Amino acid sequence: MRVGTVREIKNHEYRVGLTPESAEELVLNGHEVWVETGAGDGIGSSDEHYVAAGATIKATAAEIFAECEMVVKVKEPQAVERAQLRKGQILYTYLHLAPDAEQTADLVKSGVTAIAYETVTGPGNSLPLLKPMSQVAGRMSIQAGATALQKAQGGRGVLLGGVPGVLPGKVVVIGGGVVGINAAQMAVGMGADVTILDRDPTVLERLDNHFEGRAHTLFSSHAALAAQVAEADLVVGAVLIPGAAAPKLVTREMLSTMQSGSVLVDVAIDQGGCFETSKATTHAEPTYVVDDIVHYCVANMPGAVARTSTYALNNVTLPHALRIANKGWKAALKADADLAAGLNVHEGQVTYEAVAHDLGYDY
Ligand code: NAD
Repeated sequence: MRVGTVREIKNHEYRVGLTPESAEELVLNGHEVWVETGAGDGIGSSDEHYVAAGATIKATAAEIFAECEMVVKVKEPQAVERAQLRKGQILYTYLHLAPDAEQTADLVKSGVTAIAYETVTGPGNSLPLLKPMSQVAGRMSIQAGATALQKAQGGRGVLLGGVPGVLPGKVVVIGGGVVGINAAQMAVGMGADVTILDRDPTVLERLDNHFEGRAHTLFSSHAALAAQVAEADLVVGAVLIPGAAAPKLVTREMLSTMQSGSVLVDVAIDQGGCFETSKATTHAEPTYVVDDIVHYCVANMPGAVARTSTYALNNVTLPHALRIANKGWKAALKADADLAAGLNVHEGQVTYEAVAHDLGYDY
């Protein structure tokens, strides 16, 4: 199969669909790989790296959309890209169609076969192609929070790890899922005093076993949460209620109980945020201050560490890309129900029930 990857054109997107190493794996499996010139610049991979991996460099994305049987990307195709998709072609990328009627209509019109990373399933109803981005965001949240705690950034001047003779900073993580455990791990590693709140007893038990006393766990009642937030130097919002907007767990009123210069990092901002005072920010201007509390609410945190994020993403997307290329998409999806769950649009039909339901397509 001829597989292609293009330079991402969405604003401030530096990741790329295929690393040179992934391109090489496809080549070693007997496939041809076309890469748009400069596609890997954002992760520090030059055209020469791709050529050394056996790929062919093309001057324009247009050539790749016109002649590749499968296009592997990161972000949903932008309007100019959607106009180039066609019947008989496979698009393999993040799509997030449910809130995006315009994109869905264009994909339906194009006839393309679109497999969305975010709906490919794994054991126990997990979403393994989303997980690495939560791992990245969770780990980054502590880095971002530690920076925001510095005086020059508006913070209260607390070093999370403390030093001998001075107590460490207090980190409160709300939500102990993938983001939460990764955040807690970084905070524990820095020597902070860490408490993780969740409402799921199984999650609390798992965290307790995992951290063996190096982090505290607490049931997330309103009262417990309010008490923890009041004492925190850094609060990380990492809750998720699948399919719903994030609950506003930290109210504006609670901010007045916090110490001036404390920091809130709302990782759940992509679902609307779990702090009442959250509004989405960008990497260019990541923080703002409400009632003396510094807020960091970047919606695409993994974009800042494009190289790590691209490699983490490729680790989970490549095995499926290889299966699709080796067997053809039909046989690959037939053999693997988890991969089949990724099919969102095919030859003019919306093939994912939730998207069809939300946007009023026949299913
Ligand atoms: P997850 O499902 O693994 O974990 C969510 C946890 O929240 C669960 O353990 C759940 O029990 C807990 N929870 C639900 N309600 C709660 C409450 N009231 N109090 C305490 N805990 C509660 O989800 P995840 O992968 O960790 O993702 C968390 C959020 O981070 C999601 O909204 C996700 O979209 C977002 N995210 C954002 C970025 C970014 O760049 N900003 C990147 C990746 C993920």
